[in-house]
Amino acid sequence: MAFVTYSYSAPVSQSLFDRAAAVTPGGVNSPVRAFGAVGGTPRFMVSGSGPYLTDADGREYVDLVCSWGPMVLGHGHPEVTAAVRQAVERGTSFGTPVEDEVALAEEIVARIDPVEQVRLVSSGTEATMSAIRLARGFTGRAKVIKFAGCYHGHVDALLASAGSGVATFGLPDTPGVTGAQAGDTIVLPYNDLDAVREAFAAHPRQIACVITEASPGNMGIVPPRDGFNQALKDLCRADGALYISDEVMTGFRAGPRGWYGIDGVAPDLMTFGKVMGGGFPTAAFGGRKDVMDHLAPAGPVYQAGTLSGNPVATAAGLAQLRVLARDDFAAHAVVDAAARQVRELVTEALTKAGVAHTVQTAGTMFSVFFGDFGSAGVPDYETAKRQESFRFTAFFHSMLSQGVYLPPSGYEVWFVSAAHDERAVERIADALPAAARAAAEAVPA
Ligand SMILES: *Cc1c(COP(=O)(O)O)cnc(C)c1O
Repeated sequence: MAFVTYSYSAPVSQSLFDRAAAVTPGGVNSPVRAFGAVGGTPRFMVSGSGPYLTDADGREYVDLVCSWGPMVLGHGHPEVTAAVRQAVERGTSFGTPVEDEVALAEEIVARIDPVEQVRLVSSGTEATMSAIRLARGFTGRAKVIKFAGCYHGHVDALLASAGSGVATFGLPDTPGVTGAQAGDTIVLPYNDLDAVREAFAAHPRQIACVITEASPGNMGIVPPRDGFNQALKDLCRADGALYISDEVMTGFRAGPRGWYGIDGVAPDLMTFGKVMGGGFPTAAFGGRKDVMDHLAPAGPVYQAGTLSGNPVATAAGLAQLRVLARDDFAAHAVVDAAARQVRELVTEALTKAGVAHTVQTAGTMFSVFFGDFGSAGVPDYETAKRQESFRFTAFFHSMLSQGVYLPPSGYEVWFVSAAHDERAVERIADALPAAARAAAEAVPA
Protein backbone atom coordinates (compact mmCIF):
# COMPACT_ATOMS: atom_id res chain seq x y z
CA MET A 1 0.00 0.00 0.00
CA ALA A 2 2.77 2.38 0.92
CA PHE A 3 4.16 1.98 -2.58
CA VAL A 4 1.00 2.64 -4.60
CA THR A 5 1.82 6.32 -5.13
CA TYR A 6 5.05 5.49 -6.86
CA SER A 7 4.11 2.47 -8.89
CA TYR A 8 3.89 3.11 -12.58
CA SER A 9 3.81 0.57 -15.25
CA ALA A 10 6.81 -1.50 -16.24
CA PRO A 11 4.77 -4.27 -17.86
CA VAL A 12 7.57 -6.17 -19.58
CA SER A 13 9.71 -6.20 -16.42
CA GLN A 14 6.67 -7.26 -14.40
CA SER A 15 5.89 -10.19 -16.69
CA LEU A 16 9.55 -11.26 -16.64
CA PHE A 17 9.52 -11.03 -12.85
CA ASP A 18 6.38 -13.20 -12.72
CA ARG A 19 8.05 -15.77 -14.99
CA ALA A 20 11.20 -15.63 -12.85
CA ALA A 21 9.27 -16.10 -9.60
CA ALA A 22 7.93 -19.42 -10.93
CA VAL A 23 11.39 -20.92 -11.40
CA THR A 24 13.70 -18.92 -9.09
CA PRO A 25 13.17 -18.23 -5.36
CA GLY A 26 11.82 -14.69 -5.08
CA GLY A 27 12.42 -14.20 -8.79
CA VAL A 28 16.06 -13.14 -8.46
CA ASN A 29 19.54 -14.59 -8.08
CA SER A 30 20.66 -12.12 -5.40
CA PRO A 31 18.11 -10.84 -2.83
CA VAL A 32 18.55 -7.06 -3.07
CA ARG A 33 17.57 -7.15 -6.76
CA ALA A 34 13.98 -8.05 -5.81
CA PHE A 35 13.24 -4.48 -4.57
CA GLY A 36 12.08 -6.03 -1.28
CA ALA A 37 13.09 -2.93 0.71
CA VAL A 38 11.38 -0.40 -1.57
CA GLY A 39 8.56 -2.37 -3.20
CA GLY A 40 7.47 -2.15 -6.81
CA THR A 41 8.64 -3.96 -9.92
CA PRO A 42 12.33 -4.81 -10.21
CA ARG A 43 13.56 -3.56 -13.57
CA PHE A 44 14.98 -6.18 -15.90
CA MET A 45 17.81 -4.51 -17.76
CA VAL A 46 18.60 -5.42 -21.35
CA SER A 47 21.60 -3.22 -22.11
CA GLY A 48 24.04 -0.74 -20.67
CA SER A 49 26.09 1.96 -22.31
CA GLY A 50 28.40 4.36 -20.45
CA PRO A 51 26.41 5.73 -17.48
CA TYR A 52 23.05 4.46 -18.80
CA LEU A 53 20.97 1.32 -18.49
CA THR A 54 17.95 0.42 -20.64
CA ASP A 55 15.22 -1.80 -19.23
CA ALA A 56 12.99 -4.35 -20.91
CA ASP A 57 10.24 -1.73 -21.30
CA GLY A 58 12.60 0.44 -23.32
CA ARG A 59 13.12 3.06 -20.61
CA GLU A 60 16.59 4.54 -20.08
CA TYR A 61 18.10 5.28 -16.65
CA VAL A 62 21.18 7.02 -15.34
CA ASP A 63 22.79 4.14 -13.46
CA LEU A 64 23.90 4.85 -9.88
CA VAL A 65 24.45 1.19 -9.04
CA CYS A 66 27.13 0.31 -11.61
CA SER A 67 26.57 -3.41 -10.94
CA TRP A 68 27.21 -2.66 -7.23
CA GLY A 69 30.62 -1.22 -7.98
CA PRO A 70 32.40 -3.17 -10.73
CA MET A 71 31.49 -0.91 -13.68
CA VAL A 72 33.83 1.90 -12.63
CA LEU A 73 34.48 2.80 -16.29
CA GLY A 74 30.79 2.66 -17.18
CA HIS A 75 29.03 0.03 -19.28
CA GLY A 76 30.59 -1.31 -22.45
CA HIS A 77 33.96 0.40 -22.17
CA PRO A 78 35.52 -0.19 -25.62
CA GLU A 79 38.88 -1.49 -24.35
CA VAL A 80 37.36 -3.88 -21.84
CA THR A 81 34.87 -5.12 -24.44
CA ALA A 82 37.64 -5.63 -27.02
CA ALA A 83 39.77 -7.58 -24.51
CA VAL A 84 36.81 -9.82 -23.70
CA ARG A 85 35.99 -10.39 -27.37
CA GLN A 86 39.58 -11.37 -28.14
CA ALA A 87 39.73 -13.69 -25.14
CA VAL A 88 36.48 -15.42 -26.11
CA GLU A 89 37.81 -16.04 -29.61
CA ARG A 90 40.88 -17.78 -28.19
CA GLY A 91 38.74 -20.13 -26.09
CA THR A 92 36.72 -19.65 -22.92
CA SER A 93 38.24 -22.04 -20.37
CA PHE A 94 41.18 -24.44 -20.38
CA GLY A 95 41.63 -25.59 -16.80
CA THR A 96 45.32 -24.80 -17.15
CA PRO A 97 47.37 -21.76 -16.19
CA VAL A 98 47.17 -18.87 -18.69
CA GLU A 99 49.33 -15.76 -19.09
CA ASP A 100 46.60 -13.24 -18.24
CA GLU A 101 46.30 -14.74 -14.73
CA VAL A 102 49.95 -13.93 -14.14
CA ALA A 103 49.53 -10.45 -15.59
CA LEU A 104 46.46 -9.75 -13.42
CA ALA A 105 48.28 -10.94 -10.29
CA GLU A 106 51.28 -8.78 -11.24
CA GLU A 107 49.00 -5.78 -11.74
CA ILE A 108 47.60 -6.19 -8.21
CA VAL A 109 50.97 -6.89 -6.59
CA ALA A 110 52.53 -3.88 -8.33
CA ARG A 111 49.77 -1.55 -7.18
CA ILE A 112 49.04 -2.71 -3.62
CA ASP A 113 52.24 -2.86 -1.52
CA PRO A 114 51.08 -5.25 1.23
CA VAL A 115 50.12 -7.84 -1.41
CA GLU A 116 53.20 -9.93 -2.23
CA GLN A 117 51.26 -12.89 -3.58
CA VAL A 118 47.72 -13.31 -4.75
CA ARG A 119 45.32 -16.19 -5.49
CA LEU A 120 42.49 -15.66 -7.97
CA VAL A 121 38.98 -16.92 -7.18
CA SER A 122 35.53 -16.35 -8.68
CA SER A 123 33.65 -14.21 -6.13
CA GLY A 124 34.23 -11.93 -3.18
CA THR A 125 32.57 -14.52 -0.97
CA GLU A 126 35.12 -17.09 -2.03
CA ALA A 127 37.93 -14.62 -1.39
CA THR A 128 36.92 -13.85 2.21
CA MET A 129 36.04 -17.49 2.94
CA SER A 130 39.47 -18.59 1.73
CA ALA A 131 41.28 -15.78 3.55
CA ILE A 132 39.62 -16.82 6.83
CA ARG A 133 40.56 -20.48 6.26
CA LEU A 134 44.12 -19.46 5.51
CA ALA A 135 44.29 -17.28 8.64
CA ARG A 136 43.04 -20.19 10.74
CA GLY A 137 45.44 -22.60 9.05
CA PHE A 138 48.38 -20.23 9.45
CA THR A 139 47.76 -19.37 13.11
CA GLY A 140 46.31 -22.70 14.24
CA ARG A 141 43.54 -20.72 15.97
CA ALA A 142 39.75 -20.83 15.53
CA LYS A 143 38.17 -17.51 16.49
CA VAL A 144 37.41 -14.66 14.11
CA ILE A 145 36.45 -11.08 14.97
CA LYS A 146 34.09 -9.30 12.60
CA PHE A 147 32.11 -6.08 12.94
CA ALA A 148 28.35 -5.62 12.96
CA GLY A 149 27.21 -4.15 9.65
CA CYS A 150 30.29 -5.36 7.75
CA TYR A 151 29.41 -7.74 4.93
CA HIS A 152 31.99 -10.18 3.68
CA GLY A 153 29.86 -12.20 1.29
CA HIS A 154 27.61 -15.06 2.34
CA VAL A 155 30.30 -17.03 4.16
CA ASP A 156 28.52 -19.10 6.85
CA ALA A 157 30.79 -18.03 9.68
CA LEU A 158 30.49 -14.35 8.69
CA LEU A 159 26.72 -14.14 8.26
CA ALA A 160 26.21 -12.62 11.66
CA SER A 161 25.13 -8.96 11.76
CA ALA A 162 26.19 -8.65 8.15
CA GLY A 163 24.57 -5.42 6.94
CA SER A 164 23.54 -4.82 3.34
CA GLY A 165 21.15 -7.41 1.91
CA VAL A 166 20.87 -8.94 5.33
CA ALA A 167 20.21 -5.54 6.90
CA THR A 168 17.71 -4.73 4.20
CA PHE A 169 15.73 -7.84 4.90
CA GLY A 170 15.93 -7.34 8.64
CA LEU A 171 17.29 -10.80 9.29
CA PRO A 172 19.21 -10.82 12.57
CA ASP A 173 21.06 -13.84 11.22
CA THR A 174 20.06 -16.62 8.87
CA PRO A 175 18.61 -20.09 9.26
CA GLY A 176 20.98 -22.68 7.88
CA VAL A 177 24.03 -21.36 9.67
CA THR A 178 24.62 -23.63 12.64
CA GLY A 179 25.79 -22.62 16.08
CA ALA A 180 29.01 -24.49 15.39
CA GLN A 181 29.65 -22.52 12.21
CA ALA A 182 29.01 -19.14 13.81
CA GLY A 183 30.27 -20.11 17.28
CA ASP A 184 33.83 -19.02 16.65
CA THR A 185 32.74 -15.67 15.25
CA ILE A 186 32.90 -12.71 17.62
CA VAL A 187 30.74 -9.83 16.38
CA LEU A 188 31.68 -6.38 17.71
CA PRO A 189 30.30 -2.87 17.15
CA TYR A 190 32.18 -1.02 14.41
CA ASN A 191 34.54 1.81 15.35
CA ASP A 192 34.66 0.55 18.95
CA LEU A 193 38.28 -0.15 19.89
CA ASP A 194 37.46 -0.88 23.53
CA ALA A 195 35.28 -3.77 22.40
CA VAL A 196 38.18 -5.13 20.34
CA ARG A 197 40.61 -4.80 23.27
CA GLU A 198 38.16 -6.62 25.53
CA ALA A 199 37.72 -9.44 23.02
CA PHE A 200 41.47 -9.98 22.75
CA ALA A 201 41.75 -9.89 26.54
CA ALA A 202 38.94 -12.43 26.92
CA HIS A 203 40.37 -14.86 24.31
CA PRO A 204 44.16 -14.52 24.46
CA ARG A 205 45.99 -16.29 21.61
CA GLN A 206 42.74 -17.83 20.36
CA ILE A 207 41.81 -15.27 17.72
CA ALA A 208 43.00 -16.21 14.23
CA CYS A 209 42.12 -12.91 12.63
CA VAL A 210 40.19 -9.69 12.64
CA ILE A 211 38.35 -9.20 9.36
CA THR A 212 36.96 -5.78 8.55
CA GLU A 213 35.79 -3.88 5.51
CA ALA A 214 38.65 -1.47 4.83
CA SER A 215 36.04 1.28 4.95
CA PRO A 216 32.59 -0.23 5.37
CA GLY A 217 30.11 0.26 2.54
CA ASN A 218 27.54 -2.43 3.26
CA MET A 219 25.65 -0.54 5.99
CA GLY A 220 25.86 2.60 3.87
CA ILE A 221 29.23 4.35 3.99
CA VAL A 222 30.60 4.28 7.55
CA PRO A 223 34.30 5.19 7.40
CA PRO A 224 36.72 4.07 10.10
CA ARG A 225 37.51 6.73 12.69
CA ASP A 226 41.05 8.15 12.46
CA GLY A 227 43.49 5.52 13.65
CA PHE A 228 40.91 2.72 13.89
CA ASN A 229 42.45 0.44 11.25
CA GLN A 230 45.98 1.06 12.55
CA ALA A 231 44.85 0.17 16.08
CA LEU A 232 43.23 -3.03 14.78
CA LYS A 233 46.48 -3.97 13.13
CA ASP A 234 48.47 -3.20 16.30
CA LEU A 235 46.11 -5.26 18.48
CA CYS A 236 46.40 -8.17 16.02
CA ARG A 237 50.17 -7.90 15.94
CA ALA A 238 50.41 -7.88 19.76
CA ASP A 239 48.38 -11.09 20.01
CA GLY A 240 49.73 -12.93 16.96
CA ALA A 241 46.44 -12.69 15.04
CA LEU A 242 46.19 -11.66 11.39
CA TYR A 243 44.60 -8.42 10.21
CA ILE A 244 42.44 -9.00 7.13
CA SER A 245 41.20 -6.01 5.20
CA ASP A 246 38.24 -6.76 2.93
CA GLU A 247 38.59 -4.46 -0.08
CA VAL A 248 36.13 -6.32 -2.29
CA MET A 249 34.08 -3.12 -2.55
CA THR A 250 36.70 -0.40 -1.97
CA GLY A 251 39.56 -2.00 -3.95
CA PHE A 252 40.45 0.03 -7.08
CA ARG A 253 37.21 1.95 -6.37
CA ALA A 254 37.57 4.23 -3.30
CA GLY A 255 40.75 5.44 -5.02
CA PRO A 256 43.38 4.08 -7.43
CA ARG A 257 44.83 1.87 -4.68
CA GLY A 258 41.56 1.38 -2.87
CA TRP A 259 41.24 2.25 0.80
CA TYR A 260 44.81 1.09 1.42
CA GLY A 261 45.94 4.00 -0.77
CA ILE A 262 43.99 6.37 1.46
CA ASP A 263 44.87 5.23 5.00
CA GLY A 264 48.13 3.36 4.30
CA VAL A 265 47.61 0.69 6.96
CA ALA A 266 49.21 -2.51 5.64
CA PRO A 267 47.09 -5.62 6.32
CA ASP A 268 48.42 -9.18 6.54
CA LEU A 269 45.80 -10.34 4.04
CA MET A 270 43.47 -8.47 1.71
CA THR A 271 40.49 -9.45 -0.41
CA PHE A 272 39.41 -7.99 -3.75
CA GLY A 273 36.51 -8.45 -6.16
CA LYS A 274 34.01 -6.20 -7.93
CA VAL A 275 36.19 -3.66 -9.87
CA MET A 276 39.09 -6.08 -10.42
CA GLY A 277 36.81 -8.41 -12.41
CA GLY A 278 35.82 -5.81 -14.99
CA GLY A 279 32.20 -6.99 -14.79
CA PHE A 280 33.09 -10.70 -14.75
CA PRO A 281 33.20 -13.15 -11.84
CA THR A 282 36.78 -12.71 -10.71
CA ALA A 283 38.02 -11.93 -7.23
CA ALA A 284 41.22 -12.45 -5.28
CA PHE A 285 42.85 -12.68 -1.90
CA GLY A 286 46.48 -11.97 -1.21
CA GLY A 287 49.02 -10.55 1.17
CA ARG A 288 52.17 -11.54 3.02
CA LYS A 289 54.16 -14.18 1.16
CA ASP A 290 54.95 -16.17 4.32
CA VAL A 291 51.20 -16.45 4.94
CA MET A 292 50.21 -17.12 1.31
CA ASP A 293 52.90 -19.85 1.19
CA HIS A 294 50.61 -21.92 3.41
CA LEU A 295 48.14 -22.32 0.53
CA ALA A 296 48.04 -25.50 -1.56
CA PRO A 297 49.98 -26.56 -3.53
CA ALA A 298 52.80 -24.58 -1.87
CA GLY A 299 51.47 -25.41 1.60
CA PRO A 300 48.87 -27.47 3.46
CA VAL A 301 45.80 -25.17 3.44
CA TYR A 302 43.51 -26.40 0.66
CA GLN A 303 41.84 -24.02 -1.77
CA ALA A 304 40.89 -24.55 -5.43
CA GLY A 305 38.48 -23.58 -8.23
CA THR A 306 37.52 -25.07 -11.62
CA LEU A 307 37.03 -21.61 -13.13
CA SER A 308 39.56 -19.72 -10.97
CA GLY A 309 41.61 -17.42 -13.20
CA ASN A 310 39.21 -18.00 -16.08
CA PRO A 311 40.79 -16.51 -19.23
CA VAL A 312 37.81 -14.36 -20.24
CA ALA A 313 37.28 -13.00 -16.71
CA THR A 314 40.97 -12.27 -16.18
CA ALA A 315 41.18 -10.54 -19.58
CA ALA A 316 38.29 -8.28 -18.55
CA GLY A 317 39.76 -7.50 -15.14
CA LEU A 318 43.20 -6.88 -16.55
CA ALA A 319 41.88 -4.52 -19.23
CA GLN A 320 39.87 -2.56 -16.67
CA LEU A 321 42.79 -2.24 -14.21
CA ARG A 322 45.09 -1.14 -17.04
CA VAL A 323 42.69 1.56 -18.22
CA LEU A 324 42.34 2.72 -14.60
CA ALA A 325 46.12 2.91 -14.13
CA ARG A 326 46.69 4.98 -17.26
CA ASP A 327 47.41 8.72 -17.33
CA ASP A 328 48.00 9.10 -13.60
CA PHE A 329 44.69 7.49 -12.74
CA ALA A 330 42.73 10.05 -14.76
CA ALA A 331 39.66 7.79 -14.69
CA HIS A 332 39.57 7.87 -10.88
CA ALA A 333 39.79 11.67 -10.96
CA VAL A 334 36.72 11.70 -13.21
CA VAL A 335 34.85 9.30 -10.90
CA ASP A 336 35.82 11.48 -7.94
CA ALA A 337 34.60 14.67 -9.62
CA ALA A 338 31.30 13.08 -10.65
CA ALA A 339 30.76 11.69 -7.14
CA ARG A 340 31.46 15.09 -5.63
CA GLN A 341 28.95 16.77 -7.97
CA VAL A 342 26.22 14.25 -7.25
CA ARG A 343 26.84 14.51 -3.48
CA GLU A 344 26.57 18.30 -3.59
CA LEU A 345 23.42 18.19 -5.70
CA VAL A 346 21.76 15.70 -3.34
CA THR A 347 22.65 17.76 -0.27
CA GLU A 348 21.35 20.91 -1.93
CA ALA A 349 18.05 19.35 -2.99
CA LEU A 350 17.38 17.62 0.35
CA THR A 351 18.33 20.72 2.35
CA LYS A 352 16.05 22.88 0.23
CA ALA A 353 13.17 20.46 0.80
CA GLY A 354 13.88 20.40 4.55
CA VAL A 355 14.84 16.72 4.66
CA ALA A 356 17.27 15.85 7.45
CA HIS A 357 20.05 13.68 6.08
CA THR A 358 23.74 12.83 6.29
CA VAL A 359 26.00 12.16 3.32
CA GLN A 360 29.05 10.06 4.23
CA THR A 361 32.01 9.52 1.93
CA ALA A 362 34.98 7.20 1.55
CA GLY A 363 37.19 8.34 -1.31
CA THR A 364 35.06 8.29 -4.45
CA MET A 365 32.30 6.34 -2.67
CA PHE A 366 29.36 7.85 -0.82
CA SER A 367 25.94 7.10 0.55
CA VAL A 368 23.02 9.09 1.93
CA PHE A 369 21.35 8.42 5.29
CA PHE A 370 17.88 9.93 5.70
CA GLY A 371 17.24 11.22 9.23
CA ASP A 372 18.89 13.51 11.77
CA PHE A 373 22.19 12.07 12.97
CA GLY A 374 23.66 15.25 14.43
CA SER A 375 27.31 16.16 14.05
CA ALA A 376 28.55 12.65 14.93
CA GLY A 377 26.98 11.20 11.79
CA VAL A 378 26.70 7.44 11.49
CA PRO A 379 29.64 5.65 13.16
CA ASP A 380 28.20 2.13 13.36
CA TYR A 381 25.45 -0.27 12.37
CA GLU A 382 23.18 0.44 15.35
CA THR A 383 23.07 4.08 14.29
CA ALA A 384 22.66 3.22 10.58
CA LYS A 385 19.52 1.27 11.47
CA ARG A 386 17.90 4.46 12.78
CA GLN A 387 17.65 5.88 9.26
CA GLU A 388 14.21 6.92 8.01
CA SER A 389 13.82 4.21 5.41
CA PHE A 390 10.33 5.40 4.47
CA ARG A 391 11.84 8.64 3.18
CA PHE A 392 14.42 6.78 1.15
CA THR A 393 11.65 4.65 -0.37
CA ALA A 394 9.75 7.73 -1.54
CA PHE A 395 12.94 9.30 -2.83
CA PHE A 396 13.97 6.12 -4.64
CA HIS A 397 10.68 5.71 -6.50
CA SER A 398 10.58 9.35 -7.53
CA MET A 399 14.09 9.08 -8.94
CA LEU A 400 13.25 5.80 -10.66
CA SER A 401 10.14 7.25 -12.28
CA GLN A 402 12.32 10.11 -13.56
CA GLY A 403 14.92 7.79 -15.05
CA VAL A 404 17.57 7.57 -12.32
CA TYR A 405 18.40 4.09 -11.07
CA LEU A 406 19.48 4.18 -7.42
CA PRO A 407 20.40 1.16 -5.29
CA PRO A 408 17.04 -0.16 -4.04
CA SER A 409 17.98 0.08 -0.35
CA GLY A 410 19.07 2.81 2.06
CA TYR A 411 21.99 0.64 3.21
CA GLU A 412 23.86 0.79 -0.09
CA VAL A 413 26.52 2.93 -1.71
CA TRP A 414 25.63 5.13 -4.68
CA PHE A 415 28.15 4.21 -7.34
CA VAL A 416 29.19 6.50 -10.18
CA SER A 417 31.63 5.77 -13.00
CA ALA A 418 34.13 7.58 -15.18
CA ALA A 419 31.39 7.62 -17.84
CA HIS A 420 29.10 9.80 -15.69
CA ASP A 421 29.52 12.94 -17.77
CA GLU A 422 27.84 16.34 -17.62
CA ARG A 423 24.69 15.12 -19.35
CA ALA A 424 24.25 12.22 -16.93
CA VAL A 425 24.83 14.47 -13.91
CA GLU A 426 22.35 16.99 -15.30
CA ARG A 427 19.71 14.32 -15.58
CA ILE A 428 20.28 13.46 -11.92
CA ALA A 429 20.11 17.16 -11.01
CA ASP A 430 16.81 17.53 -12.87
CA ALA A 431 15.24 14.61 -10.98
CA LEU A 432 16.40 15.61 -7.49
CA PRO A 433 13.99 18.43 -6.52
CA ALA A 434 10.84 16.32 -7.01
CA ALA A 435 12.45 13.33 -5.28
CA ALA A 436 13.49 15.51 -2.34
CA ARG A 437 9.91 16.81 -2.05
CA ALA A 438 8.62 13.23 -2.13
CA ALA A 439 11.03 12.36 0.69
CA ALA A 440 9.86 15.41 2.67
CA GLU A 441 6.20 14.44 2.29
CA ALA A 442 6.72 10.73 3.02
CA VAL A 443 5.13 9.23 6.11
CA PRO A 444 6.08 5.97 7.83
CA ALA A 445 4.34 2.98 6.24
C1 LIG B 1 30.33 -7.55 -2.42
C2 LIG B 1 31.18 -7.81 -1.24
C3 LIG B 1 31.59 -9.12 -0.90
C4 LIG B 1 31.07 -10.34 -1.60
O1 LIG B 1 31.43 -10.40 -2.94
P1 LIG B 1 30.58 -11.35 -3.92
O2 LIG B 1 31.34 -11.28 -5.21
O3 LIG B 1 29.21 -10.77 -3.98
O4 LIG B 1 30.59 -12.72 -3.32
C5 LIG B 1 32.50 -9.27 0.13
N1 LIG B 1 32.95 -8.22 0.83
C6 LIG B 1 32.56 -6.95 0.55
C7 LIG B 1 33.12 -5.82 1.34
C8 LIG B 1 31.65 -6.72 -0.48
O5 LIG B 1 31.24 -5.47 -0.72
